[in-house]
Amino acid sequence: MPALSLLIKPASGNCNMRCRYCFYADELDNREIRSYGKMSVDTMHTIVDKAMEYGDYECTIAFQGGEPTLAGLDFYRDLVAYVTAHENPKKLKIHYALQTNGYLINEEWAAFLGENHFLVGVSLDGLKEIHDRYRLDAAGKGTYQRVISAIRLLEKHQVEYNILTVVTAATARNGQKIYNYFKKNHFGYQQYIECLDPIGEEPGQHEYSLTPEKYGEFLKSMFDAWYLDMRSGTYVYNRYFENLMMIMAGQQPESCNMRGVCGKQWVFEADGSVYPCDFYALDQWRLGNIQENSFEEMDEKRDELGFIQWSMRQQEDCQKCRWFGLCRNGCRRNREPVTAENTNRNYFCKSYQMFFEYAYPRLREIYQLYMAGRIRK
Ligand code: SF4
Ligand code: SF4
Repeated sequence: MPALSLLIKPASGNCNMRCRYCFYADELDNREIRSYGKMSVDTMHTIVDKAMEYGDYECTIAFQGGEPTLAGLDFYRDLVAYVTAHENPKKLKIHYALQTNGYLINEEWAAFLGENHFLVGVSLDGLKEIHDRYRLDAAGKGTYQRVISAIRLLEKHQVEYNILTVVTAATARNGQKIYNYFKKNHFGYQQYIECLDPIGEEPGQHEYSLTPEKYGEFLKSMFDAWYLDMRSGTYVYNRYFENLMMIMAGQQPESCNMRGVCGKQWVFEADGSVYPCDFYALDQWRLGNIQENSFEEMDEKRDELGFIQWSMRQQEDCQKCRWFGLCRNGCRRNREPVTAENTNRNYFCKSYQMFFEYAYPRLREIYQLYMAGRIRK
């Protein structure tokens, strides 16, 4: 069995910020119960008990939201104490992770995260003017300064962190600038995710909407900057490029949206309900509830719903495509509607084609330097 990966939403979809493009707020609007409140300590303990029985050798307990710090620091203190005191019969190695908007991170939080070796993802949309355009607090004010202060506190407490940037139309226009800004600030671990349009809407209708052309240009400009650094021996982690190199090396990419088939994920809402992916925390995809069901039962439900099986279906065009080996039609969320019989081509197909046509020879060059040990992490 692959390592167990749990994604827990201890404050449900509740958040202390009002990002204008939030995909999870849109998911909440598309299900019967918007918020499941705060996760009880009992539910958290049940997750740990059952995970330790079900898992094999390794388990990542990751927290996300909404905003997971709204569950309060005591919730996390209790969790770590409970895991530490647990009998852990199979001796699973436990990793902790937290994805945060940074708003509540203070000295106390940063010290806790550092002491307990949490890997922290901080959401920052590049430059101040871009970040503050969409990532607003509840009063409608930009949050850039607070996030930067949070990052400095994490650094002070030696917390391992990476930067998560949502690629909107505005981000896409400023790829090089963002790259240079991150470099100047020593943000060497970067992850970019495509901004999603609301479920069921014709894409491209919002000011922030990322169109395939814009995303293609973004990937190209990011690549140009990254290539120059990597070629001169300066290692910069870009999750997408890193995963492409894993594919070139014949390995399984760690990012499930690059495998061509959905991964086996366990997403826990605050009431203990479980879903197969963060993008599908919707009533029709509910696998069960950890208080009532075993992991095995919920896995059966996943099969019954065909969540992974449907994602395996590929478009004929894709199978003939020169880039299929690298692209694999991307994330299922961008291929909807996906059914038992059919799947769409990825909305960002054009972006991927633009990028591979432009960058492939140089991507290969970096891969070869990497394999020859001339680029070191
Ligand atoms: S929908 Fe995308 S992110 Fe979710 S499991 Fe499938 S490939 Fe992964
Ligand atoms: S580039 Fe387009 S056609 Fe080619 S594999 Fe990707 S999604 Fe399919």
